[in-house]
Amino acid sequence: MLEIRHLSKAFGTHAVLKDIDFTVDKGDVTTIIGASGSGKSTLLRCINLLETLTTGEILFHGKDITGRGVNSSAYRAKVGMVFQSFNLFNNLTVLANCMIGQQKVLKTGHDEARKRALYYLNKVGMAPYINARPDQISGGQKQRVAIARALAMEPEILLFDEPTSALDPEMVGEVLDVMKSLATKDNMTMLVVTHEMSFARDVSSHVVYMADGVIEEEGDPEKIFSNPESPKTKDFLKRIL
Ligand code: ADP
Ligand code: MG
Repeated sequence: MLEIRHLSKAFGTHAVLKDIDFTVDKGDVTTIIGASGSGKSTLLRCINLLETLTTGEILFHGKDITGRGVNSSAYRAKVGMVFQSFNLFNNLTVLANCMIGQQKVLKTGHDEARKRALYYLNKVGMAPYINARPDQISGGQKQRVAIARALAMEPEILLFDEPTSALDPEMVGEVLDVMKSLATKDNMTMLVVTHEMSFARDVSSHVVYMADGVIEEEGDPEKIFSNPESPKTKDFLKRIL
């Protein structure tokens, strides 16, 4: 579905991503792990075109979406994003938060947008809160709404950037449970930057370990967690586990 080829990104003279190559197949749940500053967020931001690449290309179903003259808005609509800081509109209700993108970007009509929003809010267990505003609900609930909002756009792939890092510890589980259900029951294709090693080990189909802007090692969770090859990977896991 997604193929990243020789992706590099520099800010001025600072090379943040160096020759990144990897692919995501339909139904894959890929976790990206690595120390703070290793380039994980920048990589997700390049993939959803919030940053321009310095070099390299991104193929979506075999088509380069970074070339000139490519209509990237169609691609963007297929790629959902869930942020660490939720990014909900505080002046809108939970329901309206899950409708506005559909109406503005996809031009979905009000009734259909409402129906889809309710469907996905129900999926994440937030249907009882449709009339609440984000500041009236907990962090875990906000993140579940943010996931419903992303799903309501019916993306082909969902990107998560440390979706539980801003949460109080007691709320991490409810968000991971929703993500796990999307992965295992709905077969959602997901690319997840996370420090939750149990999620990476138990839920993901593929683990990418990044260090200093390169993919230091990747493979299935069993290999990465039980039998890492790179000394850097071993060292990182020793520190985090
Ligand atoms: P991670 O998500 O793994 O913590 P980031 O992708 O956020 O890493 O950052 C990687 C590096 O890129 C850091 O050194 C960071 O300071 C730098 N960086 C990220 N965004 C910018 C930017 N807009 N301008 C300059 N440097 C940036
Ligand atoms: Mg980050």
